[in-house]
Amino acid sequence: MEDYYYPLSRYFRRTFGRPVRKVTVDAGFSCPNRDGTVGTRGCIFCDNRSFSPARRMGIGSITRQIDEGIARVSRRFADAAFIAYFQPSTNTYAPVDHLEALYRQAISHPQISGLAIGTRPDCVGDDVLDLLARLSRETWLSLELGLQSSCDQTLAFLNRGHNFASFLDAVKRASQRNLRLGVHVILALPGEGRGQCRRTAEILAALPIHSIKLHNLYVVRDTPLAELWAAGQIPLPSLEEYAGLAVDFLERTPEDVVIERLAGDAPRDFLLAPAWSAEKNAARLAIERQFAQRGTRQGAFVPPRE
Ligand code: SF4
Repeated sequence: MEDYYYPLSRYFRRTFGRPVRKVTVDAGFSCPNRDGTVGTRGCIFCDNRSFSPARRMGIGSITRQIDEGIARVSRRFADAAFIAYFQPSTNTYAPVDHLEALYRQAISHPQISGLAIGTRPDCVGDDVLDLLARLSRETWLSLELGLQSSCDQTLAFLNRGHNFASFLDAVKRASQRNLRLGVHVILALPGEGRGQCRRTAEILAALPIHSIKLHNLYVVRDTPLAELWAAGQIPLPSLEEYAGLAVDFLERTPEDVVIERLAGDAPRDFLLAPAWSAEKNAARLAIERQFAQRGTRQGAFVPPRE
């Protein structure tokens, strides 16, 4: 198969010398966009179920979650290394000594080779970044920032509770500490055409970012987005339209930036739309088809570095 983009699997093989699987860890974090610090309604696409009281978990459960996660995949990936992925909600939203205890519980697991930590750009104070910088000297570590769009109007529509300037500030302070940075972006957001999608790619291309996760906007039950969608106010792209935007984006992304994801992974039980989002490989195949038709690849339109 043609190498149209730089997938995470290739980066992991180059870095670790073998395949790597991420094991999701839910440390029971909350989110300032839910608890009233920034807002109470959350982002319009965010699934409320991740904030149920049943999620309150202790540090001890991290080891158990890692054990269970590894057990689930180890038969299929016998020679794999494992990364603990602190994924649901805002995984730096706690006092720094509590964060350190949680992260150290994960990296002390004998089968864990690194950490991936997902969070908001406005939840990485200097004390948190100093902790992550210390840990990154001990283990592989990636800090994943949810951005979604570089357009403040879109961020307000999504009720993100932060603006693009706060993302730029987080990137600057994280890169001063040589942290490995990943960014989450949603393509084809309402009100964003092809131009805005390309603009976000071009802005990110100029920043010290190591990896990108692309998502399509999908609608799940019991969210404000679901209400807007039911009222006919949310246009969603077809698979081919999404693939076209993703290829536009990747053509403007430097070839050494790792592409961790090409589209969202919608939970089938809760997905309302678009239907194609439930098909695991549909987006990848459509994106590869469009690359083949255009005769381009990741980085094709990135200006040469001076
Ligand atoms: S920042 Fe993340 S966890 Fe918080 S409301 Fe938005 S999507 Fe949900």
